[in-house]
Amino acid sequence: MARYALLVAGLIALAVPTVMTGQQGGGGSYPQTLIPPAKGPFTFPAGYQTPWEKVEILVKEKLSPNLFVLHGSDTLDPAHPDGSGGRALALFGPDGVLMVDSQNRQVAEKTLKTLRSFTDGPIRIMVNTHVHSDHTGGNAFFAKQGALIYSQENLRNEMVRPPRRGPGGPAVEMAGVPAATYSYSAATIGQPAVTFYMNGEIVDFIPMMPSHTAGDTIVRFRNADVIYIEDFYRNFGYPFADQANGGSLQGMLEASDLIAKLAGPKTTLVPGHGTLIKKDELLPYRAMVADILAKVKTLREQGKTLKEVLAANLTAPYDAKTLGDTQQSKDRFITEAFDEVRDFPPVVDGKRTMPQH
Ligand SMILES: [Zn+2]
Repeated sequence: MARYALLVAGLIALAVPTVMTGQQGGGGSYPQTLIPPAKGPFTFPAGYQTPWEKVEILVKEKLSPNLFVLHGSDTLDPAHPDGSGGRALALFGPDGVLMVDSQNRQVAEKTLKTLRSFTDGPIRIMVNTHVHSDHTGGNAFFAKQGALIYSQENLRNEMVRPPRRGPGGPAVEMAGVPAATYSYSAATIGQPAVTFYMNGEIVDFIPMMPSHTAGDTIVRFRNADVIYIEDFYRNFGYPFADQANGGSLQGMLEASDLIAKLAGPKTTLVPGHGTLIKKDELLPYRAMVADILAKVKTLREQGKTLKEVLAANLTAPYDAKTLGDTQQSKDRFITEAFDEVRDFPPVVDGKRTMPQH
């Protein structure tokens, strides 16, 4: 028996490299971009609504042989014309499926169908990187498929008590609210709150300081050398910090600094939108945010009004290089900077209550 097993193993060893080389091009061939995000420019008529029935969910990137990116088709969704919704990741294999984020609610069935095109494993774990609906909208649907949802405690609170929901707003779908939570602590900055050993991968959920929102998590795949850095970095449109949910541009600078420490030069950084990047592309972004904050601060200290600061066109040096540059995205960025350069409250109980313009 032992000799027979050895012989079979030997035959497989001979056979496998030929097959592997043909399909994957050998080691070091990841990430693979199958469908790059569209670059635009895009225009949508007034009153345009996303035709959700036309949005497809596609495998747009492969980060390792068993870690795929699911992302929506381009040119249809005015919130994200480069690729509808936020990237969702699926790690799959004999131990089942671990997902990062759940895409928009309207496309949940399509997200599952695409997932089922490459794995029939049970969906076991979901982690949410931040509360926005393009990353958590499919939560309840995937919870019903069996996913146990993890997030920061702050994200759970943002979902249960949304700051912007007025009377008569939609009820919270409790099935989609994270069931397992953890918190950010300045004492353990950069350390994973949760680690999963699954499908030959080691996956770390690393809670972030209040940055894009108050409840952000980045997700590291140690063997693939990949970090999903979600939305505090973007290379489509200008930066956005969700101040109503405790986010801030200054928090996003801290988040950039932490990523720069955690990532090696070859680490693939996966933003929620736009293109995949390496660490060297994060640094000019950080410099731009810091530059704009400093310039807005100077103008505000000179007594300039918001209208005057907006008119100063401070983003001009960056416009040519910023894909998805729109007046709305610029004005939002500058307005946020204007609000927080005068009044930047401390973090209390893991949250920062931001000033609102
Ligand atoms: Zn997003």
